[in-house]
Amino acid sequence: MDKKAFFDSVTHMEEQISDLYGQLTSLKDNLQLVLEENNRLAIENTHLREAMAEQQAAKAEQALVSPQGNHPEVDQSAGHDNLMQLYKEGFHICNVHFGSPRINGEDCLFCLGFLNQQNNK
Ligand SMILES: [Zn+2]
Repeated sequence: MDKKAFFDSVTHMEEQISDLYGQLTSLKDNLQLVLEENNRLAIENTHLREAMAEQQAAKAEQALVSPQGNHPEVDQSAGHDNLMQLYKEGFHICNVHFGSPRINGEDCLFCLGFLNQQNNK
């Protein structure tokens, strides 16, 4: 191999390493995003499970108090409290974004509309 061909070969290798480094950086960024998304989903999942358990407990309690189940308005208010709690914890309860975290805890018009609607029932 002559000196020029050898030099070109090393230059080519250098470019490939630089490319690979770029790909590695991009993979690392993607991994970071996936980990964040995973955390977000784990937290969201926990909140939804808690809300579901509370709702089921409230229903069970209600069933004990009135075996005929003639008080749907009480069930509804328990569910409303749970949703209000979820909203206060920073999650959407509106149909548009249900269960996703509210960005920077900013109020959502759809959620507030939904809560007002429930309050006026
Ligand atoms: Zn919302």
